[in-house]
Amino acid sequence: MSDCIFCKIAKKEIESYVIEETENFISFLDIKPHAPGHTLLIPKKHVANLEELPQELGEEFVFLSKRLVTLLSKALETKDFTIGINHGKLAGQAVEHLHLHFIPRFKDDKGGSIHSVVYNPPKEELSVIYEKIMKVKNES
Ligand code: AMP
Ligand code: ZN
Repeated sequence: MSDCIFCKIAKKEIESYVIEETENFISFLDIKPHAPGHTLLIPKKHVANLEELPQELGEEFVFLSKRLVTLLSKALETKDFTIGINHGKLAGQAVEHLHLHFIPRFKDDKGGSIHSVVYNPPKEELSVIYEKIMKVKNES
């Protein structure tokens, strides 16, 4: 996508601090880090979200995630991370090119867990939600 900032980073049209790069993925430091070592991993191909990620890239995505955790863990001297995707506008996705955040966590960094991102418990019973999901699953 021509006006996508992450496509430009992938094509090296915009500079970034590249950490790992393969034929299909690139990872780089977030320009506005929420912690030392805050890193993003993106597919080079423009996809907006996980649903659009080609199936055959899934394994490499997980493999590189694991490699980044090991590398950042040693470099930043912490074993702890918050790892996640703002998946869609309502979830806070600002750049519409799939990216996985790796945020190293430190003692007393004043951050919370993923549970602190949202608290919107369902009004229905879990069984009702489960039925909805199973209905779609069984129809697909
Ligand atoms: P999100 O809200 O999940 O879409 O996050 C987008 C992230 O991309 C933010 O954390 C930004 O700081 C980061 N970002 C935006 N532009 C750049 C850039 N040119 N280089 C590195 N990171 C960037
Ligand atoms: Zn893009």
